[in-house]
Amino acid sequence: MRKILVVDDENDICDFVRNFFQERGYGVSVARSGEEAIELAKKDKPDLVLLDIKMKGIDGIATLKHLKEIDRKQKVIMVTALEDQDKMNEASRLGACDYITKPLVLDHLESAVEKNLGKDM
Ligand SMILES: [Mg+2]
Repeated sequence: MRKILVVDDENDICDFVRNFFQERGYGVSVARSGEEAIELAKKDKPDLVLLDIKMKGIDGIATLKHLKEIDRKQKVIMVTALEDQDKMNEASRLGACDYITKPLVLDHLESAVEKNLGKDM
């Protein structure tokens, strides 16, 4: 089973994305902060992380750095509320493999996940 870790500080988004991927046969774990995401990534070794950029505490960019320190091949798709090109450039420099924008369109979300799970890093 392919495992996805969903990281977002908004409960509604976590629930929505978890349900969507569980229905499609993925194993899904959820973290509501960067700190929680780092712990879960160590424990669960997800195939892919969907990572919100804007969070209280450790934000998505700082979380991405930690995730890459844990596993430099970790696949991470950044999720962003607005097109923030500076943040996206930084995320890509730090090794994020893709990004998607909110509001989330389920078709886009699924195709981004499928595409990046299929890639070798
Ligand atoms: Mg957020």
